[in-house]
Amino acid sequence: MKNLAHHLLVDPGSKIKLADFDPGSTHGVGKAAAAGHLTRNLEQLAVLQHMLYAEGQRSLLVVLQGIDAGGKDGTIQRVMSGLNPQGVTVTSFKVPEGAEKRHDYLWRVHNAVPEWGKIGIFNRSHYEDVLVVRVHGLAPKPVWSKRYDQINDFERMLSANGVRIVKFLLYIGKDEQAKRFRQRLDDKSKNWKFSPADLKEREYWDQYIGAYQDMLRKCSTKHAPWYVIPSNNKWFRNLAVSQILRETLESMDLKFPKPSADLSGIKFE
Ligand code: AMP
Ligand code: MG
Repeated sequence: MKNLAHHLLVDPGSKIKLADFDPGSTHGVGKAAAAGHLTRNLEQLAVLQHMLYAEGQRSLLVVLQGIDAGGKDGTIQRVMSGLNPQGVTVTSFKVPEGAEKRHDYLWRVHNAVPEWGKIGIFNRSHYEDVLVVRVHGLAPKPVWSKRYDQINDFERMLSANGVRIVKFLLYIGKDEQAKRFRQRLDDKSKNWKFSPADLKEREYWDQYIGAYQDMLRKCSTKHAPWYVIPSNNKWFRNLAVSQILRETLESMDLKFPKPSADLSGIKFE
């Protein structure tokens, strides 16, 4: 698994072309081997989360983006399942409403950044403000086009203040999306998730790909890297996300704090 994260990373400043990415790729990993690796990654994530919590000085922010049926919910369910719920917050960003509409677009996002010791997961994020907003012209170009720099500045500020950031684009093919929509329609346990609006969005596929590509080119930075996860195969997606999260937490060099009292003199019956 050593080079997986490296292969999936969007190199800062690179002119990545999404069309060159195969959403069905599994980078030579077999399904059976992946299952074992996933199990070990989830065990390790639980240990690392415990250390992050104990240290209590920094936090981890995980940003998930992807087209409808791209697997954001499934990734959270599967990859975060081994974590202690007390140390995790999940925030789903919807169409802004109420006070959100009366503030700048980063206001609700900053408010949801995880506190020290915790892992925060964004199911959609501030990137919607350069994705759906751009694709549907919800703001004029002079407004959304300035947001890439603003987002980089915002993320740099967070990272300089102790928030480690990692961002995943769950990338599926258009055929795979059609397959998943059909499964949703046919399955009573899933068809509540289906919205006719999703089919409308599907008509904007190429515009979304263009918007994703610009987002990756402009906003993959050293302090807040983007990873493109080939996500047609859920087992590979889960393995890749768990592996990158594990390596990210490992690279933070987390340590248990020293006890605040001198424990050697403590006596009790
Ligand atoms: P879902 O994730 O399926 O529950 O849908 C949430 C919807 O909210 C999606 O269609 C997003 O595109 C939309 N959304 C999220 N953030 C924004 C935003 N900042 N502006 C407009 N729409 C948004
Ligand atoms: Mg949806």
